[in-house]
Amino acid sequence: MCQLKFWLDAVNGYVAQCVHCGLYQVAYGTSLLTFTELQLQQFTTEIMQLATIGCPGGQEHVKAIILPTPEFGYQVILCHKELLELDKLLQNAQVEITTGALLALISNPD
Ligand SMILES: [Zn+2]
Repeated sequence: MCQLKFWLDAVNGYVAQCVHCGLYQVAYGTSLLTFTELQLQQFTTEIMQLATIGCPGGQEHVKAIILPTPEFGYQVILCHKELLELDKLLQNAQVEITTGALLALISNPD
């Protein structure tokens, strides 16, 4: 049974990590995705790259952005506005995770 530590808990979603198995959970909209640390880094980078491309055709409410997930046969579809929200969520979580890792290093130098 996973026990979650929340790195970021926002109105539209959260990023949490299980204190037992170390897996990360990303909740956004109606989706709940589970990642290893490496998969989360890759996902965060992919979202950041997609977000910097800009909005195709200026239609920010059209569901046109399909995200790959680790699960076969399951994809997440977002509009541009949601993509930007998810990007912000993941970036903010990354800051918290990095800060947490640094604090852990300082308090346990060995
Ligand atoms: Zn777990």
